[in-house]
Amino acid sequence: EMGTTGIHAELAKRRKAVLPDWLTTMYAEPIDIERGEGRHVRDAEGNRYLDFFGGILTTMTGHALPEVTAAVSEQAGKILHSSTLYLNRPMIELAERVAEVSGIDDPRVFFTTSGTEANDTALLLATGYRASNQVLALRNSYHGRSFSSMAVTGNRSWSPTSLSPVQTFYVHGSRRRGTPMAGLSDAELTEACVADLEDVLDQLHGNVACLIAEPIQGVGGFATPPDGLYARFKEVLDRHGILWVSDEVQTGWGRTGEHFWGWQAHDGSGKPDIVTFAKGLGNGLSIGGVVARAEVMNSVAANSISTFGGSPVTAAGALANLDYLLEHDLQRNAAHTGAILRAELDGALGSASAVADVRGKGLMIGVELVDPDGLPAPELAAEVLEETKRQGVLIGKGGLNGNVLRIAPPLSVTESEVREGARVLLDALNKVSSSRHA
Ligand code: PMP
Repeated sequence: EMGTTGIHAELAKRRKAVLPDWLTTMYAEPIDIERGEGRHVRDAEGNRYLDFFGGILTTMTGHALPEVTAAVSEQAGKILHSSTLYLNRPMIELAERVAEVSGIDDPRVFFTTSGTEANDTALLLATGYRASNQVLALRNSYHGRSFSSMAVTGNRSWSPTSLSPVQTFYVHGSRRRGTPMAGLSDAELTEACVADLEDVLDQLHGNVACLIAEPIQGVGGFATPPDGLYARFKEVLDRHGILWVSDEVQTGWGRTGEHFWGWQAHDGSGKPDIVTFAKGLGNGLSIGGVVARAEVMNSVAANSISTFGGSPVTAAGALANLDYLLEHDLQRNAAHTGAILRAELDGALGSASAVADVRGKGLMIGVELVDPDGLPAPELAAEVLEETKRQGVLIGKGGLNGNVLRIAPPLSVTESEVREGARVLLDALNKVSSSRHA
């Protein structure tokens, strides 16, 4: 058993005294996280955990990767500068690399410090370009915590307020238990979502800046739209000149295995006008950004500067991280180990009655839990999380009702590690379900 020491309890108390109530921690006894190594993290008491959530999908190549650490310390030894007003080699090199892999035509890259700020920038670009502050987003979405990114979020835990700076209209984009969309086939769902989009656009006379959407909804519980749906959306948007913004904060950099970007599962004419990214690029360093066609990026009339976005230390670390990912073809590893993980977890669909759905792509897999009446089971999910932690594996949870387990290891995870993680998760599921029915 991994218990709480006096020092740990004291730290939890201090945290509560200084930080806001709405800044929640995971687990009844939050982990006093101290160091990482590869796919593992250690707490201050020396307990070792297999990290299958990677700080909400930030750990892309692995913890304490020597290549990233070396790049960060080398740059820190030169200058800890932040202003982006001067020529900054790491930022330019990173922008070149991101542009190369972006898949966007005539790409321009702007760096920010977070996914929130990246989406805020995308909204600045799209609303200005289109001279409209009406925006489309998907139900069940999450795009950030700021005034404008919350305004396009479709989750009651982060809902827009009546004071929001853009007017958002929500359309359907995926199947969700308990909604009329739940029972549809992929083909039926696609037609229903496209009709919904057309209907909303008709109401708005097409006067809309953009549609912003996640290729797989992260916070929304890895809700996965049918392949090709966003390409169909794009066809409709194109008729009105509306921009398509792909929020790749969770799905970018090969995490979905079969594609480098999540939007590529929706090919055809589905190429986005703007892609936003963050999380994995920095491997824990705070960097995000936007890549867009030059015509869109350069449409901003006034200057827009981020003092810290793409500063030398974060850019150097991110560049080493991205180079490592590309050199080791971690996208392929994500596809390979993701398929193994998926096969192991698919078994749970048949054996554990609480498992209503296993979904996602590559190393982004969601397991939806329900009670015997088929209703969302958030308490069960919370108990499974505690049990996996007790057994030394960290996973996440999400979904509108908090009943979806989220599994997202670093993209360097090995076959034996995914088997180990899956074994612990299935064991925890069985243990918790049987104790509840006893
Ligand atoms: N977009 C998506 C899809 C996200 O998952 C998140 C973070 N969970 C964000 C945006 C916001 O990113 P950040 O927390 O870095 O501001």
